[in-house]
Amino acid sequence: MDNRRSWSRRAVLKGTLAVGALGPAGVRPKLSLAADAALTPACRDGHQEQATLASAAGPYFKPDSPERGDLVEAPSDGRLITLRGRVLSRSCQPLANVLLDLWHADQNGLYDDSGFRYRGHIFSDARGGYQFRTIEPALYPGRTRHFHFKIQAPGGQILTTQLFFPGEPRNQIDRLFRPQLLMTIGGTPELLSAQFDFFIDA
Ligand code: FE
Repeated sequence: MDNRRSWSRRAVLKGTLAVGALGPAGVRPKLSLAADAALTPACRDGHQEQATLASAAGPYFKPDSPERGDLVEAPSDGRLITLRGRVLSRSCQPLANVLLDLWHADQNGLYDDSGFRYRGHIFSDARGGYQFRTIEPALYPGRTRHFHFKIQAPGGQILTTQLFFPGEPRNQIDRLFRPQLLMTIGGTPELLSAQFDFFIDA
């Protein structure tokens, strides 16, 4: 693990980062043709995307999660889900080496407070891509179905947010639900495929 990753991990996972040390302009490279080719359609007219909404961390966040993208531990009777997407700046530039920390309830709607089941973090790749393999979290009292995230670009602010599942009846009554944080869900009944792109100030 290099120093930058180690530093980022400590900063996010301990929640002690000083905000905006480098400033957004200081770390953003200029667009190249290659980068332009990777822009999403929403950014082609030059406008800025809205930053991904923040949401509550809730009471179950736990620091020092292991670095891993596969959170599935046998045996599990939860429905498998692959969650992938990209981390992008508000001008749709891919952001590499962004820390993504995921935690969620298990197939019984419980969080692991004594260990790290269904907790892990990874870093986005050179194209801003990320991928987790895990299970569909079960519902628990008072909440609709959701994933929790903390996300931090190197030197950037921490974004704490949640992602939601389309078509959940409790989306209508959960006061934390936001339609902007809905994942796109596909795949099969046995293996769900979820997609979400994060846009962050970086
Ligand atoms: Fe939760």
